Amino acid sequence: MASNSRRDFLRSLGAAAVVRGAAAERPNILFIMADDHASHAISAYGSRINRTPNIDRIAAGGVRLDNCFCTNSICTPSRAAILTGQYSHKNGVYTLADRFDGSRNHVVKELRNVGYQTAIIGKWHLHTDPTGFDYWNILPGQGAYYNPVFIDRRQQKQHQGYCTDLIGDFTLDWLKQRDRKKPFFLLCHHKAPHRPWEPAPKYARLFENQNIPEPDNLYDRLEGRARCVAAVQMKVGEHNTKRDLKVDRPAGLEGDALRKWAYQYYIKDYLRCIQSVDDTVGRLLDYLDEEGIAHNTLVIYTSDQGFFLGDHGLYDKRLMYEECLRMPFLARYPAGIKAGTVNSDIILNIDFAPLFLDYAGVKPPAEMQGRSFRANLEGRTPGDWRTSMYYRYWMHNDNDHHVPANYGVRTKRYKLIYYYGKPLGMAGANEPATPPEWELFDLEKDPREMRNVYHDPAYASVVKELKAELARLQKEFGDTPA
Ligand code: CA
Repeated sequence: MASNSRRDFLRSLGAAAVVRGAAAERPNILFIMADDHASHAISAYGSRINRTPNIDRIAAGGVRLDNCFCTNSICTPSRAAILTGQYSHKNGVYTLADRFDGSRNHVVKELRNVGYQTAIIGKWHLHTDPTGFDYWNILPGQGAYYNPVFIDRRQQKQHQGYCTDLIGDFTLDWLKQRDRKKPFFLLCHHKAPHRPWEPAPKYARLFENQNIPEPDNLYDRLEGRARCVAAVQMKVGEHNTKRDLKVDRPAGLEGDALRKWAYQYYIKDYLRCIQSVDDTVGRLLDYLDEEGIAHNTLVIYTSDQGFFLGDHGLYDKRLMYEECLRMPFLARYPAGIKAGTVNSDIILNIDFAPLFLDYAGVKPPAEMQGRSFRANLEGRTPGDWRTSMYYRYWMHNDNDHHVPANYGVRTKRYKLIYYYGKPLGMAGANEPATPPEWELFDLEKDPREMRNVYHDPAYASVVKELKAELARLQKEFGDTPA
């Protein structure tokens, strides 16, 4: 039956059949992604430090994923993994410096091929022009918070205003002019709340007279952890710059007192940036309601990775610790996903592309390494769903943050991490190299990852099993050990 006559047929069947027919239509997909927004700064995830009423609307109307993880916790590689459904060693984007090869196949091209109209607005950060999009309007590189330049299909233009608000404006503009006869795949990618955490003027004084609660491990000494972890240069206070904190450090402030002081400055600006993101999410959700398309639009809110919010005394990401490994992921699709549900399956960023293709009725191409989790979102987790995940961070010689390359495996209960060790001279001539080291965490007994039990004889058999699992995953995904 041709699609037109099928539609006529359904129309003739009356209201009940029309509802079924509408649910079978390919959904619109609105993919909202922030940059460095940790799930523990979203109230739907139980944040102790802020409220995000609009992002929470997605959770209330849909599903919250509690174990969604990135495969490489850094901006550019995570974006490439989302597009291609592949690990870094397959898609060629290992580090912040790698350029994405736009001639490769990816999810946007696949969706456009089957009739989706495709657009991206905001942060792209893959160093080459976007491909597969009908429309793109992106920030150059990291972009700027205030009066940012955008590249509208190669035309550079500076705009007056605040970056997050402008990304919201441009996303709405595109929605209003879209072809209403075709489904859309629209990527709204925020720069916020990425460093240097510069808030909108209207939120500059938010939290001003408040003390933001500290994480319980802000003063972690990182004892017993790998030596290279104890030496990372992402410690709150000690490694924050003037640009991060926007104030001069009081003379003589050191150690825990410095950390305590700096935490308030950096976390408040980080949260202020999120408040604008939340506002923009609200505007987009309102538009879907007004337009009458909320029912058949899959709305996703996520972030390219998580972030340390003073946890372990750190900011930034890169490590395989929970705070930066975990991506927030909220999905609302009233036509298929039950409202107010929670899912704790292990989902990866390489699964996003197969998910979108599934909703569009397209079989994922063989080169994609992820798997659609549509059934998981809809409350029907397949019996053979994965019970472990593989992670790998490749930026070995980053002289800014001093986090050497590392990889590992996480199961529901345990996490085993291998660090290559710090190269000689990474932290200056007086800093020696550190040897390769391992960490093991028992997440059931130690969810905050405070106790490395790798050398504890009680865990010898766990170490052995996890090393075998790590090797199995490396083989399955076609990666090779360091
Ligand atoms: Ca990021």
